[in-house]
Amino acid sequence: MRDETRGWIAQDRRHAWHPFTDQEIWERADPLVITRGQGVWLYDSEGRRYLDANSSIWTNIHGHGHPKIVEAIQAQAATLCHSSYLGLANNRASELAERLCHLFPARTLTRCFFSDDGSTALEVALKMSLQWSAQNGREDRTGVISFEKSYHGDTLGACSVGGVSRFVKGYGEVGLPVYRVADLADLQALPEVVVKTASALVIEPLVQGVNQMRLWPKGMLKKLRSLCDEHDIHLILDEVMTGFGRTGKMFACEHEGVIPDFICLAKGLTGGTMPLAATLTREEIYAGFKGGGRTLYYGHSYTGNALGCAAALASLDLFESEGTLAQVEEKGRALADSCGFLDLRRLGLILAADLTSGLEACESLRERGVLTRPILDTVVIMPPLVINHEEIDFLAEALQSISRR
Ligand SMILES: *Cc1c(COP(=O)(O)O)cnc(C)c1O
Repeated sequence: MRDETRGWIAQDRRHAWHPFTDQEIWERADPLVITRGQGVWLYDSEGRRYLDANSSIWTNIHGHGHPKIVEAIQAQAATLCHSSYLGLANNRASELAERLCHLFPARTLTRCFFSDDGSTALEVALKMSLQWSAQNGREDRTGVISFEKSYHGDTLGACSVGGVSRFVKGYGEVGLPVYRVADLADLQALPEVVVKTASALVIEPLVQGVNQMRLWPKGMLKKLRSLCDEHDIHLILDEVMTGFGRTGKMFACEHEGVIPDFICLAKGLTGGTMPLAATLTREEIYAGFKGGGRTLYYGHSYTGNALGCAAALASLDLFESEGTLAQVEEKGRALADSCGFLDLRRLGLILAADLTSGLEACESLRERGVLTRPILDTVVIMPPLVINHEEIDFLAEALQSISRR
């Protein structure tokens, strides 16, 4: 091991603390120290390369170090990195707000509120819905309906609507008044008082990511939309994972022709380069915050960050110039057909297989030059959408070694 690597590991041991990590276990083994990325590959400090098979926790789209995004970030950094969005506009945020709204049919989602992460995109949507209800004649609508085993992020509000018990324990009682349901049937059987007092219903459309990539039944989202319309409940779609092409369409809701009242976007928004999030909503929601002391008191220091917006604009350009979406379904199928798993859940370029030990499988993949993380005993494979057929073959071969065991 190089001396430099040894030094970085020692610093990590002494001072760092990692997310979702039992640090006792972490301290037992030397971590990989990632120092470089190129295309679908990550390189460690020893010069070894690994295929980034979970797109750096579901964020990367066009590969690492894509010259067009790098160029956009460099040019923006030399011009303006950040100026406050509080009381000021900036050109890149203006362009991106319009660009994002224009990804949806005219006069549907027309307003864009920026924040920094998936969790904050959810916080924004939840606060908007609840406050809108409180100040627009729906004072009795103070509740949120969510799904069991759902995941909406880790900030206190977002985690309180989530339904993964191991993430909520310790502060489960702090947070929003939430009614959790298992599925559509459960929802249809909710007591009238719950339905009548709900401001919003929040769901990860088509697939629950952290719940081991469980797919919702086809047609469910459309039914949810009707149900929300019927009962005057806001539909919040958490497309933090599914957004930006992961499922084969730009947004998962397009598979069922559904337009939500709020859509939460983050992870892939900048192509996996910068932290940036956006919550899009309808004009009627926006209008309900105008005047009369109805301001939405929400914002972060880095809201509307120009570097992030420049990266997002470059990423959206690449969707057009590289025809990214057109190849997702075909690549997903090719990978599924060649990886040797008979039993696989798949949606676009999201693949998941249940094994007896997810951890062991991922360790074995790492030895073969493939990086991903298990969710419990499920191995998740979701490479950057830019992955080519040669790289799919490499990945499939590594997967065959674990699927045969
Ligand atoms: C990752 C994720 C979040 C949280 O996003 P962060 O950027 O990690 O805060 C929320 N919802 C879903 C569906 C996610 O996959």
